[in-house]
Amino acid sequence: MNLNKPQSNRPNNNLLRRLSEPDFALIAPHLTYEEANPDDLLYNPGDDVDTVHFPCDASLASYLVPNEDGRDVETVLVGREGAVGGIVSLGYLPAYTRISVKFGGYFIRLPVSKLDAAKTASVTLRNVFARYADCVMAQMFQSTACNAIHSIEQRTAKWIISAMERTGDANVVPLTHEQLATLLGVGRSYTSRVIQIFKAEQILETRRGSIVIRDPERLRLRSCLCNESVKRHFEEVLRGVYPNAAATPEPLGSQPL
Ligand SMILES: [Zn+2]
Repeated sequence: MNLNKPQSNRPNNNLLRRLSEPDFALIAPHLTYEEANPDDLLYNPGDDVDTVHFPCDASLASYLVPNEDGRDVETVLVGREGAVGGIVSLGYLPAYTRISVKFGGYFIRLPVSKLDAAKTASVTLRNVFARYADCVMAQMFQSTACNAIHSIEQRTAKWIISAMERTGDANVVPLTHEQLATLLGVGRSYTSRVIQIFKAEQILETRRGSIVIRDPERLRLRSCLCNESVKRHFEEVLRGVYPNAAATPEPLGSQPL
């Protein structure tokens, strides 16, 4: 695929689609495709961050914080609304968290040095990434509050919805109990108990390695409103970039912010 084609043929990543034609042209020659599998590791803490990875279509990456007891806890999911690695920093700074692939598929890679050069060359491109960084911070603040005050059941519903919004087939989410337990930072037995409750209420079913959502509306009622708060912030700051948002992303500069 020619990455210099007009916007409609750009990789299916909303952040890349949000860039104006001249801004996209600055980075297009440096973009490469990569296929990633679930659980592929993109960064370990301390690694030099030299590449930005943009999840495309239903691909999903996640930030995991390793803990002293050996467990990783996931903090933020990043789908086609964003990118991981070197978004905020200028230069080769070490990664703080582990970043891994949650749902496999295709990603676009961009060397951090090329992104930094484009940010220096274009204020509007820099603005898009600064706004995205602000949205990631909002996700992290919300995640901290969510982990502190919302129940396991509310958080389970939230993560399933969050994953659902980023997959192509909105009702099938390739999440295992194990992965959900990591997202929640709890033991597998707690997760299984919540899943059993949702199954008994016919909100969802489980298949091997995936969750089938039967009643999305009731699942939303069981969720806390953390996703909605983050989504609202995305809509304020980067309209049309959050998956499932009503509007398709328009290049910055073509619409009021
Ligand atoms: Zn919450």
